[in-house]
Amino acid sequence: MKTKKYIIANWKMNLGLAQTVSLAKEFKKKFAGFNRGEVAVCPTVLALTETAEILKGSGIKLGAQNVFWEDKGAYTGEISADMLVEAGCRYVILGHSERRKHLFENYEEIHKKIRAVVETEKLTPVVCIGESLEEKKSDRRDFVLVDQLQQALSGIDVFGEQEIIIAYEPIWAIGTGTAIEPAEAEYAHKIIKLALNDLFGMRVNNKNFRIIYGGSINPKNVKGFVNLENMDGLLVGGTSLQADEFYKIAKAITKQ
Ligand code: PEP
Repeated sequence: MKTKKYIIANWKMNLGLAQTVSLAKEFKKKFAGFNRGEVAVCPTVLALTETAEILKGSGIKLGAQNVFWEDKGAYTGEISADMLVEAGCRYVILGHSERRKHLFENYEEIHKKIRAVVETEKLTPVVCIGESLEEKKSDRRDFVLVDQLQQALSGIDVFGEQEIIIAYEPIWAIGTGTAIEPAEAEYAHKIIKLALNDLFGMRVNNKNFRIIYGGSINPKNVKGFVNLENMDGLLVGGTSLQADEFYKIAKAITKQ
């Protein structure tokens, strides 16, 4: 039975090295003794190794915001999955809509990244999917979610204890201050769950996959997301830049 909740902070490109170090220290203090769920922070790549040092001795895990699919070579500016492991990462966010929008990342590339990450057997990909406002308005959400999952995951071998986290992030809710209705998230998670059953079978789906929600979560609206079906946690952007607020979210979502 899946009971562990995942609460993942995406600090994006909001903080430099000094600010990241200071926030990571606040997180460590705030979450001392917190054992109700899996907490991870994803800082800028610049601060990964320093953050890893700070988080030592705490239960907080480290994540990256991107990876490249090749393991080494002449790929100027890129970082491999093994390098992320070496830096102390346990998670890596992939396919975020901001990368799809600003860097034109497509699902073929995201697929290659997932494959590279899974091959390390040491990293959990947090694969972001979600519809745009236009897709929602034209009633294409379900198709878009299933299509994105198929493109990202078809042909990926998932075995052993490998975890794959799917983050349902409706693009129109990200960074707006307004999360979607919890019932809508629950419905989307059900669609994702069924699509994963088709792709990997129920046994692998139940054992290896988790589904979390992301998009304008804050300490007020999080209450509506507690105890939803197929809700394994949250990916939090803006609000995760404040340790106190993020802590409130983590406490709320892990309430049994
Ligand atoms: C995100 O971009 O992954 C996210 C969840 O952002 P926010 O919480 O700011 O909407």
